[in-house]
Amino acid sequence: MEVDVARNLHGVLDNLPAGVRLVAISKFHPKEYIEAAYGEGQRVFGESHEQELKGKAEALPKDIEWHFIGHLQTNKVKYIAPYIAMIEAVDSLKLLREIEKQGARHDRVIKVLLELHIAEEETKYGLTLEACRQLLENGEWRELKHVQVCGLMMMASNVDDEGQISKEFDKASDFFHEVKERYFSDDPEFRERSWGMSNDYQIAVRHGSTMVRVGTTIFGPRVY
Ligand SMILES: *Cc1c(COP(=O)(O)O)cnc(C)c1O
Repeated sequence: MEVDVARNLHGVLDNLPAGVRLVAISKFHPKEYIEAAYGEGQRVFGESHEQELKGKAEALPKDIEWHFIGHLQTNKVKYIAPYIAMIEAVDSLKLLREIEKQGARHDRVIKVLLELHIAEEETKYGLTLEACRQLLENGEWRELKHVQVCGLMMMASNVDDEGQISKEFDKASDFFHEVKERYFSDDPEFRERSWGMSNDYQIAVRHGSTMVRVGTTIFGPRVY
């Protein structure tokens, strides 16, 4: 293995304060890299393509907690529903309804995070704060017995300006507290703030993150 996964993993873990979990983003990396991290005790991994995830989930230890971090098309939910622990990037009621349907079919509760679009970059994905408020205000999510809304996820702008990145994380944190109070004050499961990637996770943990998604720093550059 060209990459010292064990050393890199411990380097990241050493930077995380208590209460912040690491999702090791293993997309496009071989199973051997995941096994190396698993051997060091890492149990939570993130993938962004359902086929790749399926192959890895079938081949690797069953106590791995798989997170789906990419954009998920509604018609692909059925492929990952049997084993996915958390779907991190939910940005529509339509997707929530499909997760409910597939969760019911497999008699399991699937954890989800709502993805916010806060960064300045153009992207089709993620809910604006207003759209997220509307989705929660609509209330239908409360009826979905096979979906557990556990928190929020976002990506900061891909810039060098630490001030701007911090501001975006703060905006997401403030919004988390707003919706926590309004919709989830009696729900201890709603607690996750998934922000921070290789280039900004150390900033993220100072701005409310409870869950960082780090790939490159652990596994090296991805080969597409
Ligand atoms: C790929 C990816 C990551 C990990 O990015 P790195 O820069 O390699 O740490 C985190 N979150 C999402 C949503 C991703 O797609």
